[in-house]
Amino acid sequence: MNEKEVIHSFFNHRIGILATMHQKETVMLPLLEDQLGINIKVPIDFNTDQFGTFTRDIERMGDQVEAAKHKAEYAMSLTGETIAISSEGIFGPHPFLPWVPYNREIVFLIDRVNEFEIFGEASTTDTNYRQMKIEKIQDAQEFCESVGFPEHAVIVRSKDEIIKGINTHEQLEEAINYFLKKSNDELYIETDMRALYNPTRMKNIKLATENLISKIYSLCSKCSFPGFEVVERKAGLICSGCGLKTNLIKSEIYKCKKCGEQEERLYPNGRQFADPAHCPICNP
Ligand SMILES: [Zn+2]
Ligand SMILES: [Zn+2]
Repeated sequence: MNEKEVIHSFFNHRIGILATMHQKETVMLPLLEDQLGINIKVPIDFNTDQFGTFTRDIERMGDQVEAAKHKAEYAMSLTGETIAISSEGIFGPHPFLPWVPYNREIVFLIDRVNEFEIFGEASTTDTNYRQMKIEKIQDAQEFCESVGFPEHAVIVRSKDEIIKGINTHEQLEEAINYFLKKSNDELYIETDMRALYNPTRMKNIKLATENLISKIYSLCSKCSFPGFEVVERKAGLICSGCGLKTNLIKSEIYKCKKCGEQEERLYPNGRQFADPAHCPICNP
């Protein structure tokens, strides 16, 4: 059997519920069916908004991976199927470069029959996530020019009202005029991050799905169980200047979810030594 046959026989063409909204299936479904051999079903009225949305309508629950897992479990409980796949995105400032916007997408898969759980991810600064206070229509138009409008939609909101999915110049003008006429409340414009209104986000969801698939395709060297993945990273790459250890990653530990086999793989970034520029001794 080649790798693809191993994976297909693992999932065995069972039904998998794709617990997503906003047309994410357009990028996820073909990959999951072809690469994993799962027969994907998209529930018609699955409403994931109850788990929280980006637009702060509802408080988001738990941490991102937990939230994705919760969605997938909920989909299984509704349908009685044994496989579910969900997706979860977060947006905000980059963890190390707070002035740069950042998007992390998770795609989570559970298989109850094989007692198997795994997630793929895409973390990127390739996002138009942004918001701004506006006072007049020109402010909104300038904002829109900077975020890839109208291919990417925007949201206009006041303190207690919101108009989403704006993706024509007419709708934009109409929305702003509506708010300006109605009250003197502070007015904000922001990018609509729902996948079907945001092709950049849709692309990142596709990348996270591909990452999930490549993680599943990593097979245990001992028992061939899928999802042989990194459980720990060890720092201590040696500096080429002074020969001392740095905080850069030296190796990764892979572990099998089935038999517990562990393997240390050296130099995951393809370099045996650290650049002295990253060394606390050579470049304090
Ligand atoms: Zn194994
Ligand atoms: Zn050094």
